[in-house]
Amino acid sequence: MRVVIKIGTSTLTHPTGLLNIRLVEKICKAISDLKNAGHEVILVSSGAIGMGVAKLGFSEKPDDVSSKQAAAAVGQCELMYVYDKLFGEYNHIVAQLLITGDDIENPVRHEKFKNTLSRLLELRAIPIINENDTVSTEEIVIGDNDTLGAIVAKSVNADLLLVISDIDGVYTSDPRVDKNAVLLREVNSLEISKYAVAGGSGTKFGTGGMVTKFQAAEICADFGCEMIIVNGKNPNNIYDAVEGKTVGTRFKVK
Ligand code: GLU
Repeated sequence: MRVVIKIGTSTLTHPTGLLNIRLVEKICKAISDLKNAGHEVILVSSGAIGMGVAKLGFSEKPDDVSSKQAAAAVGQCELMYVYDKLFGEYNHIVAQLLITGDDIENPVRHEKFKNTLSRLLELRAIPIINENDTVSTEEIVIGDNDTLGAIVAKSVNADLLLVISDIDGVYTSDPRVDKNAVLLREVNSLEISKYAVAGGSGTKFGTGGMVTKFQAAEICADFGCEMIIVNGKNPNNIYDAVEGKTVGTRFKVK
């Protein structure tokens, strides 16, 4: 199976912005094991800005663009250092790819990106992709890594986009405020397009970060790729999702 795995900042880091060592170690171990079982894995990892902010000692995420871009430059190094170290423990090679909206929009650059990705997969490396935050401007920004994950999944014709998050999946209402909220195990394609278009807080799935996840699911559904959201707190969820077991929320293609 060819799987694109997107990992969000809140999974990678503690609320302090510093690396969640225990959790990230477990996630890298599970992904290494998927590779050993013969799956092709591509990572889309957030965390550059968050980790850079913490490392530079800012008390909070700065508002100005150049400080954020500086933080991304620092945090991206830290991120790749950690991945190289942890995947290296299981004899896996990592490769960093930083892209911007331009690299998707421009057919020549997109083709180069796809060629490099498929060569890296042939070479059995784990491509690790993030937006090139240090040079992204408003005009060329992809914006969020859920969308980037879906774009990457489409570029490599993936079988699955696995979104590792800090929430168990999609609920009927916000589980942080409604104790009767029910976890939906499946979302069908009609629901995907309805909520991807509706966006914003108008949807009943309007918890933090859900809007971009629906938009990503719609991109995936359009080219026939399933997307699953799982909670990263239990790394066994990663195995279960790839093995087709019931876990998190599955966005159905048909
Ligand atoms: N590219 C951003 C970072 O690495 C994350 C964007 C996102 O998570 O949506 O900090």
